[in-house]
Amino acid sequence: MIEAQNLTRRYGDFLAVDRISFSVDEGEIVGILGPNGAGKTTTIRMITGFLPPSSGRVTVAGRDLIESSMEARRELGYLPENVALYTEMRVVEYLAYRARLFGLKGSEAKRSIGEALERCLLTDVQDQIIGTLSKGYRQRVGLATAILHRPKVLVLDEPTIGLDPKQIVSIRALIRGLAKESTLLLSTHILPEVELLCDRVVIIDRGQIVAQGTPEDLRESWLGNPVVRVELESAAPGAVDRFRAVDGVVDARQDGEHPERIELECAAGRDVRAEVFRAAVDGGLTLLELTEAKASLEDVFVRLTTTDAAREVPEEAAEPAVEEVAS
Ligand code: ATP
Repeated sequence: MIEAQNLTRRYGDFLAVDRISFSVDEGEIVGILGPNGAGKTTTIRMITGFLPPSSGRVTVAGRDLIESSMEARRELGYLPENVALYTEMRVVEYLAYRARLFGLKGSEAKRSIGEALERCLLTDVQDQIIGTLSKGYRQRVGLATAILHRPKVLVLDEPTIGLDPKQIVSIRALIRGLAKESTLLLSTHILPEVELLCDRVVIIDRGQIVAQGTPEDLRESWLGNPVVRVELESAAPGAVDRFRAVDGVVDARQDGEHPERIELECAAGRDVRAEVFRAAVDGGLTLLELTEAKASLEDVFVRLTTTDAAREVPEEAAEPAVEEVAS
């Protein structure tokens, strides 16, 4: 549904996105994950046709975003990071205005607006002035705008940013509902968002893809050897050497502050817990804990990405930010 090939974007001399290639299949929810400044918004804006790439190509539903721009963009619904809504308008008036911009008329427009209001749970507030709505509800109006023309593909840039925890839960539920009818690409720097919503994740850092796959694949392939955590009743001399000698244990490390805690790095694919248990019993050591450490996506993320890429951009390279509206 979305095919990005070697997408590259420079701001002056600064390379913000560097030869990014990925695809999103029909019905998938794919997350672009990366620290602040990684290039998520730049990538999203190129995919939605709001920013021309310096080089590279994007197709949406098989249509080239440059050569068949109108047709490709018709297949896309886009929720920008900062939705610019006309806050003095009523919700339904705003949607009617946006429907006109999409070329929807008469009964078709009415039906689309009704459906968007319903799917985004806005029917009760349809006559309310947008400026009086909470941020969570305004985000729903942004989402309703994005789905008005029934696009096959929805692209959401940081859809839960700036919302309170309750609003985040309801927007995520809404997104999950929308994903039943559209292919979805969303950007985020919030890890749980990816775990909760996405089938697949593309991790970017400093403008480049550093990993992609299902959250499960990433956890498995990037975390190296399995680790077992041992806690003894008390620190015992020789315990580390005893565990290191267990078949399948590659290394054993004692915690500096809590010497009764020992971490065992194991050979790939080996579950050494039974052998470790026997070694402890043979050595007269009392075990309080013997657990396989479960890697989280956060571990992968921290390992693969640098801290927030708040890089200095030479002043002449900076372009003014473009005010944009959801389309
Ligand atoms: P965030 O999570 O903070 O929104 P992001 O991953 O979306 O970050 P981008 O907004 O795509 O990152 O920015 C990528 C890099 O490009 C950053 O270093 C940013 O400072 C730089 N950049 C973005 N827009 C411009 C611009 N108009 N002119 C110059 N540099 C820019």
